Amino acid sequence: MSDSRNDHDHGPTMPGRRSVLKAGVVLAAAPLVGGVASRVEAATKPVANGPFTARAYGNTSATGPLGPLQTKRRAVGPNDVLLDVLYCGICHSDIHQARNEWSSLPTVYPCVPGHEIIGRVQAVGSAVTKFKVGDVGGVGCMVDSCGTCENCLADREQNCLKGATFTYNSPDRATGENTLGGYSEKMVVSERFVIRIPPGADLAATAPLLCAGITTFSPMQHWKLSSRQRVGVIGLGGLGHMAVKLAAARKAEVTVFTTSPGKIADARRLGAQEAVLWTDTAGMKRLANHFDLLISTVPESYPMQPFMDLLALDGTFVNVGALNQLEGGLIGMSMAFGRKSLAGSVIGGIAETQEVIDYCAARGIKADVELIRPEQINQAYDRVVGKDVRYRFVIDLTTGKKA
Ligand code: NAP
Ligand code: ZN
Repeated sequence: MSDSRNDHDHGPTMPGRRSVLKAGVVLAAAPLVGGVASRVEAATKPVANGPFTARAYGNTSATGPLGPLQTKRRAVGPNDVLLDVLYCGICHSDIHQARNEWSSLPTVYPCVPGHEIIGRVQAVGSAVTKFKVGDVGGVGCMVDSCGTCENCLADREQNCLKGATFTYNSPDRATGENTLGGYSEKMVVSERFVIRIPPGADLAATAPLLCAGITTFSPMQHWKLSSRQRVGVIGLGGLGHMAVKLAAARKAEVTVFTTSPGKIADARRLGAQEAVLWTDTAGMKRLANHFDLLISTVPESYPMQPFMDLLALDGTFVNVGALNQLEGGLIGMSMAFGRKSLAGSVIGGIAETQEVIDYCAARGIKADVELIRPEQINQAYDRVVGKDVRYRFVIDLTTGKKA
């Protein structure tokens, strides 16, 4: 992990020997296929170091639909990687941000969401060691952090004491401009925040692991969910379906709590032992004092006490879904007598994100995805809000590119 801002400089690169991008060098060394003169020229021509203009998809007001926008990407600094974006998942957070639904994180417009990004490396800065041109990299919810606070030094950049730089709607530490996310043709990101994607991965179905995967994996790691422990997953959407798969992979006993009768069969297919409707009072009663861990992925606040009643002694309810003010109504006596905890958790650090990507690759775990074209983003948003995603939309940005 980097220990100072010095090896972390993204400042615009002046043309010169040190700043020459490796792209041209690596491409020039690649074997020539076909031997066509124009290909030789293309292969030896270094990719310019920017800044770049890039087509992206975003909106300009909370009520406006998303559509094509022309955006600027910063110049590739010595430690940066230029990614040609291939796939980007649609997280419910994208919707909250595009529609300015988070009171403590107001949206700056234009807003380009997207933080489940898979791209091919098109160019690398002169000091980059982790990637070469042609590699596949992933970007999740963060693109930078201070790199020096105790949390960053402990690989918890998501908890950076100076504030992590999020992939969208954050001031870029290099340029001061508002960051723009992965619904875009290109991204320039510090290599520290780019995740290696193992060869052979199903790229579209791996994209959601960069947010939905890590956000549900991290609490399982922190609260040490182990085999035969009982975990409840509340809400079966993008995060929820990854939580089920990841908990089942640990051989935990998984129960899904859903408001959608049509998802009960899916819950079992994804690896849950059972699925219980919120309205099933007999089921809720039967499961009282049952769970070691509950992970709530519901995007809105709701009365939590009925679920607190399901925790066993020392159990923990981890809210990852609702990020605005939580509803009250918790009963102190119940929390005290059961020594129960209410916790929150936000994504995971970069090392842990790499870990979940490698963990899933080794076990063949991937998201259930529905690929869409950029023109379908607004319809996809409506279906996510209507609890009708099975189970992650991923925008296909490969048109005209070699995926
Ligand atoms: P999603 O795909 O929309 O899934 C949420 C699921 O919750 C829905 O499919 C639905 O499942 C249930 N649900 C939705 N509205 C509900 C309501 N009003 N009452 C009860 N249940 C409801 O969303 P997601 O992408 O998984 O994201 C979930 C939340 O996590 C979002 O708020 C997002 O911002 C947040 N998030 C947090 C982090 C973090 O680091 N903490 C990271 C990523 C996302 P059923 O049909 O099964 O009931
Ligand atoms: Zn997300």
